[in-house]
Amino acid sequence: IPVDPFDLVIFGGTGDLARRKILPGLYHRFCAGQMPATARIIGAARTEQDAAAYRGQVAEAIAEFLPEGSWDAESVAQFCERLDYVAIDARGEGGWKELAGLVREGVVRAFYLSVAPSLFGDIAERLHAHGVADGESRIVVEKPFGRDLASARALNAVLAAHFDESQIYRIDHYLGKETVQNLMAVRFGNILFEPLWNAQYIDHIQITVSETVAVGGRGAYYDKSGAMRDMVQNHLMQLLCLIAMEPPSKFEPDAVRDEKLKVIRALEPVPPSAIVRGQYRGDANGPSYREDAENPESRTESFIAMRVQIANWRWSGTPIYLRTGKRLRARESEIAVVFKDPPHSIFGEQEGRRGNVLVIRLQPDEGMHLRVTIKEPGPGGMRLMEVPLDMSFADALGPDEADVPDAYERLIMDVIRGNQTLFMRGDEVEAAWAWTDPIIEGWEERRDVPELYDPGSSGPEGALALMHRDGRRWREIK
Ligand code: NAD
Repeated sequence: IPVDPFDLVIFGGTGDLARRKILPGLYHRFCAGQMPATARIIGAARTEQDAAAYRGQVAEAIAEFLPEGSWDAESVAQFCERLDYVAIDARGEGGWKELAGLVREGVVRAFYLSVAPSLFGDIAERLHAHGVADGESRIVVEKPFGRDLASARALNAVLAAHFDESQIYRIDHYLGKETVQNLMAVRFGNILFEPLWNAQYIDHIQITVSETVAVGGRGAYYDKSGAMRDMVQNHLMQLLCLIAMEPPSKFEPDAVRDEKLKVIRALEPVPPSAIVRGQYRGDANGPSYREDAENPESRTESFIAMRVQIANWRWSGTPIYLRTGKRLRARESEIAVVFKDPPHSIFGEQEGRRGNVLVIRLQPDEGMHLRVTIKEPGPGGMRLMEVPLDMSFADALGPDEADVPDAYERLIMDVIRGNQTLFMRGDEVEAAWAWTDPIIEGWEERRDVPELYDPGSSGPEGALALMHRDGRRWREIK
């Protein structure tokens, strides 16, 4: 279904994120017939160039960042006809008049700020001063949304000075993933899971986002942030919210976000004993974290594992373990809901028996499976085994429908539709920082030094021990 006609202005339209994700994503939506004939995309960035040069640049980016076979020259050329460009100075006056002349009345106007957060205020102010934005316009901002509560509040204030909260779309691309939305469908569209979805039946939950890449060229930048700020405060927190929230009364933006906010506010402070931080060592395939960060003294974590507790009726006593890091064994993101064992086993003790687990896989192969116990086939008596009830999207939906839109393209279309459900509200982001800040301050006060781990492993020993002490174990990163 095509969305309404729009003018989408991408500030930072020549940058890495725009070339890698935003523009290829928009091309995909164009090919899917979702972009009305009059929709336009306007790149706005510092580079002095004309629209023709920009079109060439975007065509190159599509060829570079989309897999071969998923684009063709003809449709790329048609897509590029929708593009315009204006050289603009976010901090000065250059280009603003021209931009004001380009955007049209009577269409959805959206402004994607794919630039450093330090420019948000300048851009928001000029959008208004030059009459480019109006009370209906939408503004999209990228992570990082602050580096602590104070800076997040300042960013919210800068945006609020010119835009109403209902106009602000804070992107967390994890929320655009098909499986993440499916998590809500599975929880709230079935009767099967929700009655068991609490501390009485769930032993614990594991959320893992493991990456194989090093911090590489972004090392010096990453060193100022670390895994807690870069991944936990936003992406893992959002996943945790969707797993743990109460059923909203409607699938509507504020109903959903109110419930997520309650989860964040119910998070207990995390004691140092429940956190393990790590830094990768160097090996033949690459330098150590400290070398990548160009900081031989760095105390920033490239890995973190932690046990989190939610202080409310539903979750009291059920820990949620979070784990994320760089240069680990595999690129894998999943949520595993580990159910308790049946209260009494009529089959006696059986070696290696494990309970039901619902695994929600974000990558690779988005999908879900539920591990259930059955009888081992054959004449061997009543021996039990576990098998997965599997639902991989590719298998379940067939190749066409399984071609699920990338998170970015889905989210951009939601902006045009004016649907904020999958975007973070300002108070959510602030509450997440309010929980994160004291943890990070504690490390700084204690001058906490991360534990080293081998590249290609599943993280530092301490992370395994964290689970073992609780009589549990991490799911294997394969
Ligand atoms: P980039 O450095 O590649 O691009 C920056 C863009 O901003 C360029 O188009 C540049 O022309 C424009 N710009 C810079 N100063 C300007 C000014 N004064 N006036 C007008 N335009 C100006 O950055 P990026 O990697 O594309 O990241 C953009 C934003 O998105 C950052 O806030 C970043 O943290 C965030 N982000 C990036 C990624 C990613 O994968 N690259 C992922 C998540 C979030």
